[in-house]
Amino acid sequence: MTDWSTLTDACGSAEHVPGLLDRFEADPSGVWAELMDHLCPQLDTAFAASFAALPRLAEIATASSPEARSWVLLAAGAIASCSPGLSEPDSPLADFSAPIAVLHHLTDRCLSQAAEVEEYVNLLQALLSFEGVEIWDRSLDGLQSGEYEVDCPYCDVNIFVVIGQDDSFCCTDDYALQEVEKSPLLPARVQELKGLSRRLFTRASADGQAGLAHGLRYLFGRATCPDCGTDFSVAERVAAAWIP
Ligand SMILES: [Zn+2]
Repeated sequence: MTDWSTLTDACGSAEHVPGLLDRFEADPSGVWAELMDHLCPQLDTAFAASFAALPRLAEIATASSPEARSWVLLAAGAIASCSPGLSEPDSPLADFSAPIAVLHHLTDRCLSQAAEVEEYVNLLQALLSFEGVEIWDRSLDGLQSGEYEVDCPYCDVNIFVVIGQDDSFCCTDDYALQEVEKSPLLPARVQELKGLSRRLFTRASADGQAGLAHGLRYLFGRATCPDCGTDFSVAERVAAAWIP
């Protein structure tokens, strides 16, 4: 049994966490924000109590209705995304591998049924979190907002990479406010996609997320700095922003 009184969450002693999880089970969408304030504030910090909650979250997800289940999976995914990777000693991903396997399986099933692109991207990131995939479990939402901000690898200028359904380009000025000089993006050809990028593309295509699959080719494609003309990999610059 978990001795919650010995654990902490964002607000101090985790003694109240079992009660909070009971309320979350009864009303996942209504209690989600409060649960995250305690277990995963800003969706980027987790505590001992957060990881200790994963077995209960797996139980709640298993028992919940399809509508409620996404909230539970996204809460657990946010916590898992804060875990040190599987290669780290005492990684919570290894310590809680059994509930994480359950959460992964349920997310995999939910993903195929998610129609809204926002829900789809969030669940896809949760799926990657449960696998211990770093960076991309937090960086796919630019495909949903249609924008990434990166730095040029040569001249360091800040570049907006805009990946839209109708127009994809990069620029250095705020394109929302003014006419800007646009530099074209070069999407990866499908046969050039390898490893994770290939898997994400194949999965999104199979799940009927054609817009997302289209965006993935741009995210894993190339761009040219509008200021200095340096050619660069968009995905490498997105990933570089996460490395301190
Ligand atoms: Zn440049």
